[in-house]
Amino acid sequence: MKPIHEIHESHEVYGFPGKGPLLVTCEHSSRRIPAPLRTTRTDRNWLATHWGWDIGARTVCRELIRQTQSLGVFARFSRLLCDANRAPDHQHLIRCAVEGSVLSFNKRLTIEEVDRRLEKYHAPYHAAVDHAVAQRINSPGDVLLLAVHSFTPQFGEEKRTMDLGVLYDPFESVALRLQAEIAKTGLNVALNEPYSAKDGLMYAATRHGDEHGAVYLELELNQKLIGTAPDARKMGRTLATALRNIRLRVNPVSG
Ligand SMILES: [Zn+2]
Repeated sequence: MKPIHEIHESHEVYGFPGKGPLLVTCEHSSRRIPAPLRTTRTDRNWLATHWGWDIGARTVCRELIRQTQSLGVFARFSRLLCDANRAPDHQHLIRCAVEGSVLSFNKRLTIEEVDRRLEKYHAPYHAAVDHAVAQRINSPGDVLLLAVHSFTPQFGEEKRTMDLGVLYDPFESVALRLQAEIAKTGLNVALNEPYSAKDGLMYAATRHGDEHGAVYLELELNQKLIGTAPDARKMGRTLATALRNIRLRVNPVSG
C-alpha cells in the first residue's frame, strides 16, 4: 500500500491514516518563507542553519512513518516565519534577529503581519494536527503522539554530546521504556535533554496530547547523526525498531 501525501499551504500530511501506532508531527520540518515575503542572501544563509529548520528531521519522520505504517503532519513553513512549536503569545513566536543578525522579513513587523502568519500558517497547521489526532484516537489500537525535532551539536558555548533526547512531561514510564530500547541500539540517549519538556518548550505535543487524552513525547535528534538522507533514514529505522519494542499498550492516565 502506498502512503498518502497531501500538500497544503501550511502543512503536509504523509502516511497511512488510521493504521499505525504513531501520530508523528514535525513542527520544524521546513525552511520555507512563503511569498509574498522575500528573502535576502543573508536570510537564506540563516534559514539553511538550525535557526531556520530542524535539519534531517523530515527525512527521519518519513522513514519512521513508512516503517510503522503510521501518519504524520509536517509544517511547511520555517520556524523563523512563526514557530509552530511555540504558543501564539510566546516571546519567541517570531524572532526578529538570530545571533545578532536582523532577518529582513521580520524587520518592521506589524500586528497585522503577525496575525496574518498566525491565521495562514500556525493555526491551520495545528488544526491539521488536531484533526489527525482526533481521527486516529477514534481508530482501534494504541497511539503515541510523537513530535520529532533535531538539535545542533554546538549551541553557542554549549556542546551537546548526547545522540538523542527523549522529552517528556507527564509520561515518564513511556519515556523510560523508549530510552532503554533506544540505548540498546548503541545510541547515547538522555531524558529531557538538551532541554526539558517541563519548561513549556514542547508546545505542539502537549497541546494536542492534552486536548485528546493521548500519550505524547518529543524526540530531539542530534543533527550530526542525520545530516545526510541515508543517515536520516537509518535513524528512522532505528527509532521504528525501538518504538515497536516498547509495545505501546499504555494507560494515558497513569502514564
Ligand atoms: Zn525543532
